[in-house]
Amino acid sequence: MAHYRITQIDDYEPLIGQETVERIRQKAAKLKGLRVANFNSTYYGSGVAETISSLTLLMNSLGLRTEWRVIQGTADFFSITKKMHNALQGAKINLSSIKKEIFEQVIYENSVRNFLEHDFVIVHDPQPLPLIDHYKKKCPWIWRCHLDLSRPNAETWKYLRRWIDQYDAVILSCKEFAHEMNPPQRVMMPAIDPFTIKNRELSDQEINERLAHYEIPSDLPLVVQISRFDPWKDPNGVVEAFKLARKKIEARLVLLGNFATDDPEGEDIFNSLRACRDERILILTSGDDTALVNALQTRAAVVMQKSLREGFGLTVAEAMWKGTPVIGGNEGGIRYQIKNGVNGFLVSSVAEAAQRIVELLSDKNLRDEMGRKARETVRRSFLLTRYLEQHLDLFDAL
Ligand code: UDP
Repeated sequence: MAHYRITQIDDYEPLIGQETVERIRQKAAKLKGLRVANFNSTYYGSGVAETISSLTLLMNSLGLRTEWRVIQGTADFFSITKKMHNALQGAKINLSSIKKEIFEQVIYENSVRNFLEHDFVIVHDPQPLPLIDHYKKKCPWIWRCHLDLSRPNAETWKYLRRWIDQYDAVILSCKEFAHEMNPPQRVMMPAIDPFTIKNRELSDQEINERLAHYEIPSDLPLVVQISRFDPWKDPNGVVEAFKLARKKIEARLVLLGNFATDDPEGEDIFNSLRACRDERILILTSGDDTALVNALQTRAAVVMQKSLREGFGLTVAEAMWKGTPVIGGNEGGIRYQIKNGVNGFLVSSVAEAAQRIVELLSDKNLRDEMGRKARETVRRSFLLTRYLEQHLDLFDAL
C-alpha cells in the first residue's frame, strides 16, 4: 500500500531551528480542534490557492481542523469578479446593477450550499466577500485580501465596504494597502511551502527532462517570467525589456503562464502574446506543471516578475528560494521581498528592466551572490511556518 504523508512541522526544523518549531507547536496545541473554514474562488492557478493548499494541510497536521471550500460561479460571475479585482487594483469599471445582481446572487447561492459550524471563517479576496451577509454570525470572520490595494477604484471600494465592515478582522499583505474601514487591519505577507514539487530541490537530470519535454533549449541563458496571463503581470513589458536586452546580450526568454478558473482574461492575453513568439521568445502554457515551474525557476539565469501591481509575488519568493536572482516591479509586496541591489533588483520601467537583465546576464558572480542572499531572505522571512504562526496568533487574539 502507498505511504501517503503530509508535511509535518518537524520537517521544517533544519530550515528554521528547533526553538521556532517548538514555539509553533505550543501555540498550535492551545488551539487544538479549532474549526476553521477557508473560502476562495479557484482551486488552482493562483498564489492564493497555492498558499491555502499548503497552509490548511500544515494546520491540520498540528491538530486544528481547517477546511478549504471553493465557491462555484458562472462564467459571467467570474468575468464580473475579475473586473472587480482589476478595479480594486486601480482599473476603471462599469459597475452596473446587473453586474451587482449577478455577483450577489451567485454568492447567495453558495451560502445556501455551504453549512458552517466553525470557530473561524476566513474569506479570501473579493469574490466570496458577501457570504457574511447570509449567516447568523457565531464566530469571528476574517477577510483576507491578497490584492494590491494601494490605489483602489473608489466606486468599487465603496460598494464592497458594506460587507468588509461586517468582518472582525482584515488581513492585508502590506501596510500600504490599509484603508479606512471598521475591522482592525493586520499585515501578513504570504509565504511558500519548501516541500512541494514546485519548491523542493530537483536534480539536474529532472530539470533537463522537464525542459526537454517542453522543447526548451538549454544552449543560451534563460530569462523567465512565470505568471497568470494578466495585464498586471505586464507580459508585454517583459517582452519589450527582453528585446532591448537582446541587442546587447545573447539569451532566451521563456514566458510561462496559466489560467486560473476565476480569471477569464488569460486566454485573450495568451493569444495576443503568441504574435511575439520567435526563436528566442517562447510563450508557453503548461496546464500547471509544477515540476516545470520549478525547473525553470531553478535553471533560469534571471527570473522576472515585472508586475505593475502585486499584493505579494509568490513567484518571486519561489525563484528566490532556488537561489535565482529576481528582477521585480517596484510595486506592492515585491518591494518587501526584494532589497534592490542586494538580493535582486526592483525596476520601474522597461528600460530599467532591460538594463538589469544585461547586468545580471553579464556577471555570474553577481548572480551567484544575489541568488545566495535571495535564498537566505526566503529562509528567514517567507517560509510557510512564519505565516502559520501569524495565523495562530490571530486566532488566539480573536
Ligand atoms: N503558476 C504556475 N504555473 C504557471 C503560472 C503560475 O504554477 O504557469 C503559479 C506560480 O508558481 C505561483 C502562483 O501560480 O505559485 C502565482 O502566484 P503569485 O502570487 O505570483 O500571483 P497571483 O497569480 O496569485 O497573482
